[in-house]
Amino acid sequence: MKIIDTHMHYGTDPTVASETCTPYLRAGDPDSVIRCLDEQGALMGMLFPHDRPVNPPVDNDYTQANNAVAEAVEKYPERIIGVCRINPMFGAEKTRAMIDHYARNYGFRGIKLVASYDHYRSSDVRVLAPVFEKAEEHNMTVLFHSGDNHRDMPSLQAQVAKAFPNVNIVLAHIGGHTGLWECIYACLEHSNIYVDMAQAWPYDIKIFIKEVGIDRITYGSDVPYQSTAVEQLKLHVIGLSEEDKEKVFWKNAARIWRLDVS
Ligand SMILES: [Zn+2]
Repeated sequence: MKIIDTHMHYGTDPTVASETCTPYLRAGDPDSVIRCLDEQGALMGMLFPHDRPVNPPVDNDYTQANNAVAEAVEKYPERIIGVCRINPMFGAEKTRAMIDHYARNYGFRGIKLVASYDHYRSSDVRVLAPVFEKAEEHNMTVLFHSGDNHRDMPSLQAQVAKAFPNVNIVLAHIGGHTGLWECIYACLEHSNIYVDMAQAWPYDIKIFIKEVGIDRITYGSDVPYQSTAVEQLKLHVIGLSEEDKEKVFWKNAARIWRLDVS
């Protein structure tokens, strides 16, 4: 079966996580991404920077981290799908310029947002409009970190989905357990909202599929933090048919992220 990993961080930092399950995966080493894809039998993966500025803060606008992803995409364009980490608090002009740069020059397919780390509210259309206008222009998917923090909840992110119905939005981690039902209602109300199951509980994955259906969820591992073996195992033990597994492991991702997968 084909596999597309829709949630891969390009390494992390000891101040963010002192231990990870995939420690060899690190920024600046594109071969480590390929090793991670090969070890989990994946055809391709969506790659984006670590989630937050390291401590003490450096690279607050994620330029260095995004450039590292761009280098990896340049080296392995068939297998690494670029996703840029954007902090919209740097203003509309800079936000537009950054997204244009990575979309036009490196073919990036998505934008990753974490409202709590960058100190805004994920329903704030005024702050997020430049991101979503550019996402629509470049046909990019927007991946929100979802759950854990009041700024990152699915009910807020649904407001942006309503304002930009032509942009595909993925809520990571199915809302991080506490946001499970918010994710379910968000998906039922807005046809442009999807989820990835990275780090989600098997029980929550089952509930989501029962309530929303099989077409709105993708496989993601959340490397380097999590184990690809464990994340994949979840999808093998919850009673999915082979046809449904194909959808979660790659077919949904290809459609949602508008990838040409032959
Ligand atoms: Zn993640």
